Amino acid sequence: MNLHQDTCMVLFDQETIAKRVAELGRQITRDYQGKNLLMICTLRGASVFFCDLIRHIDLPLKIDFIATSSYGCSTTTSGEVRMIKDTSESVKGKDVVIVEDIIDSGLTLSFLKKMFEAREAASVKVCTMLDKPEGRKVDFKGDYVGFEVPNAFVVGYGLDYAEKYRNLPDVCVLDPKIYS
Ligand code: 5GP
Repeated sequence: MNLHQDTCMVLFDQETIAKRVAELGRQITRDYQGKNLLMICTLRGASVFFCDLIRHIDLPLKIDFIATSSYGCSTTTSGEVRMIKDTSESVKGKDVVIVEDIIDSGLTLSFLKKMFEAREAASVKVCTMLDKPEGRKVDFKGDYVGFEVPNAFVVGYGLDYAEKYRNLPDVCVLDPKIYS
């Protein structure tokens, strides 16, 4: 079965994504010279983006992984952020960049940013592949943003619906008939 059959529009194809990820990597490389860079991947949605991004950062860095949940098998946030997996090492004194797949309501990232600041990271910034500004419930701005997306449910390039479509190489709008 072809995964593209369940989508109604390709928003960003793999070539466009690859170019933008390389640009973000160059930007982070410029901004983090001489810093104590720790890249933190939010599982599982940001995993594809994260692996591509860190290979475009020409600096010594460390990586870590966290997992949160607010969606379950739904296409809208429950409004409550749950920590499922914490970092393996302390963030104290590190220049943290949280790598996220998409900012929608802003709840997940404002929660994570505050948490790492409280743990005395030297700095905390956010790099997101996608930004859905119309979905905001709290005021939140990403520091590095790949692309803005409209207020639709998107899948691919790591993003899922009910754990499917993560391996689609393009970012696509999921056909509403799949979840309605
Ligand atoms: P926020 O807390 O900003 O509402 O949500 C962030 C998380 O919600 C993302 O990490 C992602 O897992 C999920 N999310 C938000 N919008 C979408 C979307 O359009 N598609 C998918 N697959 N996940 C989304």
